[in-house]
This record gives sequence, C-alpha cells and structure tokens, in this order.
Amino acid sequence: MAEDKARYVITGGSAAGMAAAQAITEQDLNGIITVLSEEPDMPYFRPLIPYMVTGKKSAGDMQMSGNGPYKGSGIDIHVNSRVDSVNVSERTVSINGQGNISYDKLLLATGSRPYLPPEIKGADANGVFALRTLADAKAMAERVSVTDHAVMIGGGLLNLKAAFALLERGVKVTLVVYSPEVLSQLMEPDDALLIRNALDRAGLKIKTGCSATGILSDKSGVTGVSLDDGSEMPCQMICIGKGVRPNVDFLSGSEIIIDQGIVVNRYTACNTPGTYAAGDVAVTFDPVTGERIMTGLWTNAVEMGRCAGYNMTGRKTAYSGTFGIMNATQIADEPFVSMGIVHTKNTDYEVHVRNTGSTYRKVVFSPDNDRLLGVLFIGDITGAGMYRYVIRENMPINEIKSLIINQRLHYGHFIRN
Ligand SMILES: Cc1cc2nc3c(=O)[nH]c(=O)nc-3n(C[C@H](O)[C@H](O)[C@H](O)COP(=O)(O)OP(=O)(O)OC[C@H]3O[C@@H](n4cnc5c(N)ncnc54)[C@H](O)[C@@H]3O)c2cc1C
Repeated sequence: MAEDKARYVITGGSAAGMAAAQAITEQDLNGIITVLSEEPDMPYFRPLIPYMVTGKKSAGDMQMSGNGPYKGSGIDIHVNSRVDSVNVSERTVSINGQGNISYDKLLLATGSRPYLPPEIKGADANGVFALRTLADAKAMAERVSVTDHAVMIGGGLLNLKAAFALLERGVKVTLVVYSPEVLSQLMEPDDALLIRNALDRAGLKIKTGCSATGILSDKSGVTGVSLDDGSEMPCQMICIGKGVRPNVDFLSGSEIIIDQGIVVNRYTACNTPGTYAAGDVAVTFDPVTGERIMTGLWTNAVEMGRCAGYNMTGRKTAYSGTFGIMNATQIADEPFVSMGIVHTKNTDYEVHVRNTGSTYRKVVFSPDNDRLLGVLFIGDITGAGMYRYVIRENMPINEIKSLIINQRLHYGHFIRN
C-alpha cells in the first residue's frame, strides 16, 4: 500500500457508498478515500426526491453532508466521474475513458437504474420520466407547468410516490397497472382494499389489467399514451415505474462474478481480491428463505455499506442479510408495513387475517407452524419492529404464537426471555 496509507476507491456516492466511506473514516484515520459518482450532484438522500417535485424541498435540503451517514471530512468526492471499467489484476479503475486511478480496496456501490421496457415505443420523447435521480426530479418539476394530465405506467411504490407528488401539484394523474391491483410485489390483491380506498380518496385514477404499448408525441413532447386494450389517453407527462436493474454494465470482462447483481459473500467481498459490493447493486440473502436476493431499500444499502466499509479496513464484519420484502411507508393517508413472506395464495402457509374495516393485519406462519414468516399491516402498524425481530431472528414461536395471532404481542415477551 502506498506510503502505508490505504487507497480506498468507492464507485457510487449514495446510501451504500457514503455509509462505507464514513465507516472507513472511523476505522482508518490515515486512509485516502476517493468517491466517484457519475451524477452531477453531490451525495443526497434519494428517497426525498419526490419532495423536489412537490416543491416542498430544494436540492440543498436533500444533501447528505452534516447529518447523513457520513460527515464529509477526509472523503474526496468527484462528481461527473463515471467508472467505465475495472482492472482487478492491476487494481485500477478507468474514469470517463480519460485516465486510471489505483486502489488497494474497491467498493462497488453503483445502485440501480430504472428499467424501460423496450415494447413501450417512443419513450425518448420530452416529458417521459422514470424518477430515480435529483436531475429527474428537477426535470419533472419543470414539466409540471405544461402538464394537465400525467400517466404513470406501473403500480409499484416508487411510481405511487411520484404520482402523489404530482397530485400535490394539482396535476390530474392516472396510474396504468398491468397487475390486477397496485403494489403487487408487497401484497396480494385481496390485501390491498384499504390502500385502494386511500388512493381513491386522494383522487388518483387507476386502470388495472393493461399496459402501455407506445408513447405519442409532437414537438412539444408527450401528447398521449396508447394502451394494449386499443385505447389512447391524452397526457403531457409520463412516468415509467417498471422496476430497476443493477448498474453492472461497466464490469463486463472484469472477472467479477455477476448474477444479475454483483455476487458477494457474507463479508460483502466479491470473488476478486480487494473488491467489495453493497447496496442495490449487490446480491445478498434473505434470512427468512436463505435465498439470494437484491433489494431496493435505503436502510439496507446503508447497513450493507457500513459493513463493507469495515471489511475494507480489515475489521471483519458479517452482513446479516435482509428481507426480500421489507417496506414501511405511508401511501396517501394509509401507513403500512410489508415484510417477509406475504404472498400466500395457493401455498400451504398458515395465514391469519384480522380485518376491522379500517385496519388490516395479516400474519403468515410456516406450514409446520413453528416460525413466523411474514406480516402485512395496513392502517395500524403497531409493534412492526417486534415482528421484524421475530422473523429475522427465526425465533421459535411456540410460546407466543397465540399472541401473534391475536395481535397481542408486546415488548414484555422479549424482556422475559
Ligand atoms: C423516488 C424514490 C423513493 C425512494 N423511497 C425509498 C424509501 O422511502 N425507503 C427506502 O428504503 N428506499 C427508498 N428508495 C430506494 C433507495 O433510494 C435505494 O434503495 C438506495 O438509494 C440505494 O442506494 P445505493 O447506494 O445502493 O445506490 P443508488 O442510490 O442507486 O446510488 C448509486 C450511485 O452510483 C452511481 N453510479 C452508477 N454507476 C456508476 C459508475 N459506473 N460510475 C460512477 N458512479 C456510478 C449512480 O449514478 C448513483 O449516484 C427510493 C428510491 C427512489 C428512486
């Protein structure tokens, strides 16, 4: 290592990358930390960008410096710096095709980017967005001034957040969803009634069971969208939310093993020496199913990034994995938590539902009854942290099962143990 100072290079300056940088500064006071980010903006809190569309926050309000997962000191951040290849035997990365820098330890924290289905023709028109970056949010906010009606393609959480931001700006919004119901990755259609009611109350129009085939435009940009039921909807803005794909293209030919995302071991290390990965781009595992998964969660990226940072300094730290589904948020005025296994149709899981009309709580047990596998709470999310603990720790539940079913589990049961 150069002059006894370790050179840490971090590719991607967001949740995972900056959490790793902060963890390194805690462990190695002399290390040289370089963060390379292809975005033009300094690190910011990505989940806040819908507030840029509503106008409730400015770009400055979202910056990470000061109170985020890193404090900024001793971390050299380069924006507009895309890593276009990695040479693992030379231990160098190439930036913007213009030069190489060397590393002793490299973190790949390049996250993911929106997936744009190729069957949607004309998606390059002005006014078509997929909300991922601060730059996207700024551009959407500007387009609002010429938008009376926006169409959201895809019924996932991120598109719903974008939809609500536009509703707040007074834009009429229609959500087009291929599935029979919104949020199909987080709940089954039968579970979604309360959410659907909340969306209706908020004024969101929803068209289920169909998908977009093409985008209509003229020189002013988007003028409408055509759907696979033969209809067309006039609109001036479209937001595509059809999932994300990990940013791994720049690693082709690098010997780093990719299986959709970057494959790492429990210590966040890749197969090549001195190389680590964390966050949305990394393949991790689900402690409930043991399966390899990728997640799209800020909290997971921070946790995994910190872990990678420690491992890069030599402090061996195992990462404990994360649920394939783990979401706690609010849609319209309805809070909900979905975690672990919640899709139960045509399975032999034991399922209990308590539906009061204004709250919905579903708990899922393993077929042999001795493990809690998942919960979905809508309207009343009390105690979600305890249930997360029981699921994540794979706790035997013989003594508390009836309390779980009757929704009477409380912290005292853990203190007693
Ligand atoms: C609108 C929106 C709302 C969200 N809301 C929530 C929420 O409420 N809760 C939650 O838990 N999660 C939320 N998320 C998801 C969360 O933001 C992500 O899970 C998280 O940002 C992942 O962090 P990351 O560091 O792994 O990657 P990213 O945040 O994707 O950052 C990766 C960075 O690497 C850069 N990069 C990519 N390739 C290269 C390259 N070759 N060279 C250099 N730089 C590169 C990218 O430009 C990017 O800046 C939301 C996401 C969006 C878009």
